[in-house]
Order: sequence, then structure tokens, then C-alpha cells
Amino acid sequence: MPAAVAGPEIERLIQLLARLPGLGPRSARRAALFLIKKRVALMAPLADALQNAMQKIAVCKVCGNIDTQNPCTICTDERRDASIIVVVADVSDLWALERAQAVNGRYHVLGGTLSPLDGVGPQDLSIDALVARAHEPSVQEVILALNATVDGQTTAHYITELLLDARVKVTRLAHGVPVGGELDYLDEGTLAAAIRQRTTL
Ligand code: ZN
Repeated sequence: MPAAVAGPEIERLIQLLARLPGLGPRSARRAALFLIKKRVALMAPLADALQNAMQKIAVCKVCGNIDTQNPCTICTDERRDASIIVVVADVSDLWALERAQAVNGRYHVLGGTLSPLDGVGPQDLSIDALVARAHEPSVQEVILALNATVDGQTTAHYITELLLDARVKVTRLAHGVPVGGELDYLDEGTLAAAIRQRTTL
């Protein structure tokens, strides 16, 4: 740890910024300095935005999405096709699919993928709630939009088995998703194509 070059308030800011994904200690210092120089135009609005988001953030009780309203914006949007549930591991995947405007259905966020090695079992994920939703009469298709990793595919198979008696079509993304690929890192075109060319399990 290098010696502090600024007061504790600034060092604290740098330490917190350094915890953000994609920011190491060096870029955290640069970001902190940038904020400090732009404290009226950027730092104050950012502090307000953080505070407001903190107070309003809620996890959607229907789908597990993160939003400032509950049920979330997507679950309450009447223009969404309620017959399709897109299953994702994480909110970042939901955001990636929305960026790609890949599908106009509703979502279900599992909160991770099954991972025996990391001790993540079915009880740690929002799987029971998904099975219950899949049994609703309005639901006709469940799209498993999970990462093309071992854990993602294990999870897809597990869910497919559970949905056998739900009388829904279960589909998965087409092979546009590279093996080991994480949805969040795919470009919008690839993601949209993978959804369009989805295959039935
Ligand atoms: Zn929702």
C-alpha cells in the first residue's frame, strides 16, 4: 500500500472507487481526481444520484429484477408479451438483453447459477418461484438465456427437468453464444440473433 498522498476523505473515496469492477487502484485515483476537479458538475450530482438510488432501489417481488419500483418497470409494462419468460442468471444479463432489444417478454432473475464447486444449490437460487410462474396459464414459453459455461448449462438442464410438467415450451439460446461465453460481454447483434434462433430443448 503506497503512502497516503491526500487527506483521509479523499483516500477513502479512492479506496471505494477501486472496488468497482474494471477499476484498479490507479484508475480509481484518476477517477477520484476527475470527480474532485468536477465537483460541481459531476461529484455533487453523482452523490445525489447515489443517495436517491440507495433510498429507492428494490428487488422486484415477481421477477427478481432491480428497479426503483416493485413490481419492476418490465413486470408492469402491459406491452410486454406475458406468454414469454426469459430466464437469466443475473440482472446484468437482463440489462444486456434489453440493450440488444432481443425479446419483448418478461424476465426471471435466478440470482446466479448452480455451482456444486462453489456450494451453490437450487435452494440458493430463485428456482421455485420460476417453476410457479411457469405454471401460470398465460405462460407459453420459457427461454433459458444462461451463460454457455458449465454452470450455466447445468442450471439449464436442471430447470428443464423441473418444467417438464408445466406444459410450456422450453428453449435455449442458439449457438451464437460462444462456449464459455458470458451474455453480458456479447455485442447486441450476437445476442439478438441468439434469441431469435433459439432452439427447443
Ligand atoms: Zn419484475
